[in-house]
Amino acid sequence: MEFFAESTVKGRKEHRCDACRKPIEVGIVHSYMRMKYGGDFSAVRNHMECREAECDLAKQAGVWGPEDWLFLHDLEREDAEWVKAKHPIAWSRIADRYAYLDEEDQPHDQ
Ligand SMILES: [Zn+2]
Repeated sequence: MEFFAESTVKGRKEHRCDACRKPIEVGIVHSYMRMKYGGDFSAVRNHMECREAECDLAKQAGVWGPEDWLFLHDLEREDAEWVKAKHPIAWSRIADRYAYLDEEDQPHDQ
């Protein structure tokens, strides 16, 4: 990572959260990150709760940086369960992606 800046902004139009992939509605205070990696600039936005959940997840998994970053919309089962337990607000935005976690506990018809 050659450059990284993060600020807290209030949206003047609707944006999409890069963590949960859900809309960040107009007027919502959220995290706005700009970065340069491998020569390319990019900018992403996260709900504050999603940002906190991803940072916390990265910390407990011991990862940092875009190579191995854990995104809320693309988690392994154990990480998804961790978010569910620790970050209920972020989880409420991604729960539909991981509905299979609950389904697997149901008995199956043979
Ligand atoms: Zn989000």
